[in-house]
Amino acid sequence: MDIKALIRDIPDYPKPGILFRDITTLLRDPKGWQYTINTLAEKCSPFAPEYIVGMESRGFLFGTPLAVHLGTGFIPVRKPGKLPSAVYSVEYELEYGTDRLEMHQDAITPGSKVLIVDDVIATGGTAAATAQLVEQSGGELVGFAFLAELTFLNGRKNLPDVPIVSLIEY
Ligand code: AMP
Repeated sequence: MDIKALIRDIPDYPKPGILFRDITTLLRDPKGWQYTINTLAEKCSPFAPEYIVGMESRGFLFGTPLAVHLGTGFIPVRKPGKLPSAVYSVEYELEYGTDRLEMHQDAITPGSKVLIVDDVIATGGTAAATAQLVEQSGGELVGFAFLAELTFLNGRKNLPDVPIVSLIEY
């Protein structure tokens, strides 16, 4: 199935020069969406994850159905101040300035296998920061899964050396 055809391109969003890959048009397509999750599940099941970690907010959209499909737990990584219990926190670089991601300290049972999931990998900054949170909690990172990869940004080079699944390349 041509999933790329179901993703809408929005030029100059959220700012001039960015070609935004809008996945809402994929989410609303019953067959395309089911195919996407089935295919991600097929490619990720060999890693035998016990937890899927997804980043706010589009990582939730892809990570939760994938977790149900693979029979794993789901752990949300959130923007600062959103999680109610004690958190690990990681600061990471943006194009201008820095941002921060948080995860509950008791979410990952140390030693368990973790797959990190998001919709798009661009520079890899978000995924790399999430990998640091997994490391802080003593989880064993077994891979990353993305719907789409912006290969011209080479975000892979910023990630730890584990398998990376992506269904579409731009
Ligand atoms: P990254 O630069 O890899 O840290 O990407 C940060 C986040 O921005 C990811 O979670 C992506 O969902 C989102 N993102 C970055 N670039 C795009 C794009 N061109 N279209 C859609 N989402 C994007």
